[in-house]
Amino acid sequence: MAELTFTPVIGIEIHIRLKSDSKLFCSCSTDTDAPANTNICPVCMGLPGSLPVMNHRVVEQGMLAGFALNCGIRPKSLFFRKSYFYPDLPKGHQISQCDLPITTSGYIEVHDSEGKLKKIRVHHLHLEEDVGSLHHSASDGRLEGADTSYVDYNRSGTPLAEIVSEPDVSSSKEAVEYVMTLRRRVIYSGASDVELEKGMMRFDANVSMKCSDGRWGHKVEVKNMNSFKALERAIEYEIKRQKKIMLQGGEVIQETRHWNDAKGITSPSRVKENYRKFIVEPDLPPLYISQEWIDRVAARMPEMPDVRASRYVTDWNIPQEVADLITDDRNLADYFESCVKAGANPVRAAHWVRTEVLRVMNEKGLKISEFTMKPETLAGLVERVDGGKLSTTQGKEVFDYMCANNSGIDDAVKALGITEGGVAGNALADIVASVIAANPDVLDEIKSGKDKKGKKLKFLQGLVMKETKGQAKPNEVAEAIAEAVK
Ligand SMILES: [Zn+2]
Repeated sequence: MAELTFTPVIGIEIHIRLKSDSKLFCSCSTDTDAPANTNICPVCMGLPGSLPVMNHRVVEQGMLAGFALNCGIRPKSLFFRKSYFYPDLPKGHQISQCDLPITTSGYIEVHDSEGKLKKIRVHHLHLEEDVGSLHHSASDGRLEGADTSYVDYNRSGTPLAEIVSEPDVSSSKEAVEYVMTLRRRVIYSGASDVELEKGMMRFDANVSMKCSDGRWGHKVEVKNMNSFKALERAIEYEIKRQKKIMLQGGEVIQETRHWNDAKGITSPSRVKENYRKFIVEPDLPPLYISQEWIDRVAARMPEMPDVRASRYVTDWNIPQEVADLITDDRNLADYFESCVKAGANPVRAAHWVRTEVLRVMNEKGLKISEFTMKPETLAGLVERVDGGKLSTTQGKEVFDYMCANNSGIDDAVKALGITEGGVAGNALADIVASVIAANPDVLDEIKSGKDKKGKKLKFLQGLVMKETKGQAKPNEVAEAIAEAVK
């Protein structure tokens, strides 16, 4: 009998906090770091008689996120009450668009196991409110063993987008690329900052296995992943677990399982989510979106990162991996493009941004918005190095000096005692002559044709550069030496 093979069938649900100063249905601040229960009002507390009012800014954020996922905007969507009782949900129901969402039918491209582009279809993105947060008095925050639990409603009513994919994902690797690409595009759109460390992105995965003998295992919903790594590990674990059961002839039970990141396992969830959906929220009218409104928001959409990276490759001959790296951060890509606009050669500017700018940002833990050197200044430095006024070594020294002292190029050049234009003409010829005179054996080897790989020439060039304290231009040094050893 042929060996059985298994194909994972995976769908991913993502919750993303949308960027907005105020909550989804009231004007309370969305600052969840404020002291507990300070950003609350009767609406987000769900007090009787309070009425939710739609925040139009959040609707636009949802539209932007939808565009980022290649979704279409629906002219009419609805809100429902998802009723269940939980202490962090004071009104006894969560307001969610559930199955009549604002945007539908998009996709995100990832690379499959053969490196080919593959579309992961996005079923829809819907808007919903977040619930409050619970704090347990046990020292490690766990519920069991806690004397008291406290509830903070600051988060209650903050806007979320839930993004549901079709079950098109076939591996943990594809899952991670899907969520990373999706995150980058949503950040670009301006719909959310999706700061992972602040819990702004949470994942659930539906995992089932198709066997080559025709069996199809039940779907298992895995919850509680809040990092890319956790998503990857949880899916890997489920694939192995389900495969083992099916190989033994058993049946995978349809259930909800909880990912335990510390133990690296999933276990059956004890929390039963018994809610009744599809009770239309009576306090909110349907959400109508006109074509004019859609067009206005669509006009705000920036170029997406993958499109931008392709443009760098096609128009400027920048290597794909460098283009990907720079466009990963919209602000960094803006910085780079400002450099090019200011006159820097794109390939050279990309190299400087990738090596020097990112190095200093990493060393100092800076964001590009906190990096003080203006793109125009960097462009000027790149031009001077390209034009031969500064050697690459000098250019890097000047760069570091400017970063450390927040100075301009001329001040840095002066402070470092660099003579721009290097050492040339007779002065350079004299140095070359003295270096060669001090190394007659090297000269002999070159003249006798033994230096086939040019190593000895390089050696002499190094000595000359050292003599000029790095101030000579490498190409001129090479020329002077070639002339001298003829
Ligand atoms: Zn409120």
